[in-house]
Amino acid sequence: MSEQTQILNSIPVDPLTGSISVPIYQTSTFVQEAPGVHKGYDYARSNNPTRKVLEDIIAKLENGTNGYAFASGLAAIDAVVKLLKSGDDIIAVDDIYGGAFRLFTHVYEKFGISINYVDSTNAANIANAVTDKTALIWIESPTNPTLKISDIRAIAKTAKAHNILLCVDNTFASPVSQKPIDLGADIVVHSATKYISGHSDIIAGLVVTATEELGAKIKFIQNASGAILGPFDSWLAIRGIETLSLRIRQHAENAQQIAEYLIEEKLIKNVYYPGLPSHHNHEIAKSQQKYFGGVIAFDLVIDDKALASKIVSSTKLFKLAESLGGVKSLCCLPCEMTHKSIPAEKRYQSGVTDSLIRLSVGLEDAEDLIADLKQAFASAVHENITETANVL
Ligand SMILES: *Cc1c(COP(=O)(O)O)cnc(C)c1O
Repeated sequence: MSEQTQILNSIPVDPLTGSISVPIYQTSTFVQEAPGVHKGYDYARSNNPTRKVLEDIIAKLENGTNGYAFASGLAAIDAVVKLLKSGDDIIAVDDIYGGAFRLFTHVYEKFGISINYVDSTNAANIANAVTDKTALIWIESPTNPTLKISDIRAIAKTAKAHNILLCVDNTFASPVSQKPIDLGADIVVHSATKYISGHSDIIAGLVVTATEELGAKIKFIQNASGAILGPFDSWLAIRGIETLSLRIRQHAENAQQIAEYLIEEKLIKNVYYPGLPSHHNHEIAKSQQKYFGGVIAFDLVIDDKALASKIVSSTKLFKLAESLGGVKSLCCLPCEMTHKSIPAEKRYQSGVTDSLIRLSVGLEDAEDLIADLKQAFASAVHENITETANVL
């Protein structure tokens, strides 16, 4: 059975009414027959039937045992960190999502959890960073925005050997492209705000565990801390998942065509896309991902913020906005937007130069998107003629 068939087949028909669309249980509580006698639902923070459908679907899609839905990707990440205790150490990918950096460093360090950021593109760096206090290894692959790839199988081996939890933020790949639990991870998190929901219309997060035991712990934290996803947003996430496999395939097909066009553009210096043979870990990406995703980043031969800024302001189909993973194409200038809070020196170390542009390739036709980029480059160069003349 194809993955798209499996997805559609995993969404249950409502057992009560036969409704083909999952009902939205917009309720806070459930009437009991006698004290403690109920149908498995007592209070909607603990359990909600609409949210439960979403949680079961994502657990299945990620080949995990349990799934849990949260109010945002960061609330999902927060629930995983709460598995730790004071004195524990986290090893995290140095190119980590900015919001996760803020949570780890500015919220959890003061509770006695220390974080060691390492370049995980070489798995040996993780193995070398392990101490007897390491309780959690945190990676993203691909990373944001320069699409760095880490070898999940190799890192999982290190984690298993030292009895350390491995959590993979699978937001950029989606479970259609990559299944970290099959590669040895213990926990997977998603910002379901991105590809999972896919329509840029909700903020949501998901956690999937590889074992029932870990699942019970996350369930306890979800109920104890209370950052649950509401029933309507759960329904929108389910609706998004119905087309996930189709969307991911098309995002990747479009992105590959655009990346191949971008490497030919005279104005461009580096193109970051895991589907290009020139990508630093292309072979590893091939070994663990089915598709290479819909996000591309590139920088310019002249590292000029004004020129890059003109390009992202001149596109018409690519809307200038933060976020990614939706059906409509987006572009952004990380140094002024998503990565503005990172000091310039640290930003440059991870490849986020002043001219780095990130594209979230949507589902418009690739030819139209390429034409849009061409006209944006042309009009930016035209306005910036003095600085760029000697390059072109
Ligand atoms: C967006 C994002 C998050 C945070 O998710 P929210 O839903 O915005 O809270 C976490 N990780 C990655 C990789 C992201 O892109």
